[in-house]
Amino acid sequence: MAQHFDYICLGAGSGGIASANRAAMRGAKVLLIEAKHVGGTCVNVGCVPKKVMWYGAHIAEAMNLYAKDYGFDVSVNKFDWNTLVNSREAYIGRIHEAYGRGFTNNKVTLLNGYGRFVNGNTIEVNGEHYTADHILIATGGAPTIPNIPGAEYGIDSDGFFALREQPKRVAVVGAGYIAVEVAGVLHALGSETHLFVRKHAPLRNFDPMLIDALVDAMKTEGPTLHTNSVPQSVVKNADDSLTLNLENGESVTVDCLIWAIGRSPATGNIGLENTEVQLDSKGYVITDAQQNTTHKGIYCVGDIMAGGVELTPVAVKAGRLLSERLFNAMSDAKMDYSQIPTVVFSHPPIGTMGLTEPEARAQYGDGNVKVYTSSFTSMYTAVTSHRQACKMKLVCAGKEDKVVGIHGIGFGMDEILQGFGVAMKMGATKADFDAVVAIHPTGAEEFVTMR
Ligand code: NDP
Repeated sequence: MAQHFDYICLGAGSGGIASANRAAMRGAKVLLIEAKHVGGTCVNVGCVPKKVMWYGAHIAEAMNLYAKDYGFDVSVNKFDWNTLVNSREAYIGRIHEAYGRGFTNNKVTLLNGYGRFVNGNTIEVNGEHYTADHILIATGGAPTIPNIPGAEYGIDSDGFFALREQPKRVAVVGAGYIAVEVAGVLHALGSETHLFVRKHAPLRNFDPMLIDALVDAMKTEGPTLHTNSVPQSVVKNADDSLTLNLENGESVTVDCLIWAIGRSPATGNIGLENTEVQLDSKGYVITDAQQNTTHKGIYCVGDIMAGGVELTPVAVKAGRLLSERLFNAMSDAKMDYSQIPTVVFSHPPIGTMGLTEPEARAQYGDGNVKVYTSSFTSMYTAVTSHRQACKMKLVCAGKEDKVVGIHGIGFGMDEILQGFGVAMKMGATKADFDAVVAIHPTGAEEFVTMR
């Protein structure tokens, strides 16, 4: 006989875990189903291991670029990739344990296995049936690989985190967060790194100031950027090296090729055909503003949601709000998908929130938009021979100069944005920013002293 729960969460990634725990805290009997490791993409093959690698890259940059001018006579005998990977994986292991303690405390039942819908309120796992009044789909996504000859010789971001040896020569293909972050890390750690983007620049949808500054930074201290480079084929050579051929006639031979061209939703094999859940043309789950799918009692959050934002904190917030609505009588609770701050852990990092300058001009009209900028050399690097630019921009709109876009690239930007995000979400104007006393000397102070 099927075991019955109030709530089943299919997928123990960021969204599923957050929603399951919150539902259980509100008294629901919850089953959380996961086929692989708890924590999903973020914890196992995404944000967390990436950030550890980025910190490793930070240490490399500190020693290789900056230490000398700060008076340190550093000679590095060796960088051991495996030690970094082992430290990272041990840390992830501790996160898994912490999740386990959380499930026990909250009385969430964790079930290891692949879950599929049998019908709208029944999931089958390992041959057993589990029913629930409410079911959340939070199965996330997986990296995409292009459909060109030899593409299978490359690895994706999951493969990057599985690397046990540092590749000497690497090609990273893609123009989004993952391509930029992975290429930056590999370069800083000493791999000869080539980043191939098929258009004129990476991160094309970001504010132009950020793109220009990132491209400039790559020219001076970054991976080799190849623009207008569309992959055509990959050939495996006798010595196991790979040659990436591009449509523009160029080719490069490397030891490792990493595809980072986007991700696809993991909706193909979870039995959705046995429900009335509708997908869009790319396989993403269609939801309304309160995470309801087209099948009553089935909900969806995270990277598989049509029109969503593929960021961990977005899935977490949406998952918690859904549980508040279902199990804590907060009938109006819903995720606000506007004005979401985000950071790209590039070199240097990028922080961005709200409208880009072109978006603001299109939305409000040129005459109603004022832009304030600041450009300087980060103090951390200014005393060294490896000077690195920091650029910031406030995009303001209307008579009251409301801040509708905040963008920055430079040392510390990853930690600067969050607080300014609060101000922006509250509707702060340029005058509100100016009313705050600057903290000196910091990079962040530029946001409250722009003219
Ligand atoms: P994205 O969708 O962000 O970017 C992939 C880019 O690769 C596309 O935008 C496209 O850019 C380019 N591309 C697509 N197809 C091809 C192709 N066939 N050949 C060459 N280039 C191609 O995907 P990512 O994989 O980088 O990241 C997935 C999601 O994960 C992101 O949306 C992000 O939200 C999230 N993420 C967030 C991080 C963070 O918060 N720091 C870190 C990592 C990921 P173009 O059209 O310009 O060529």
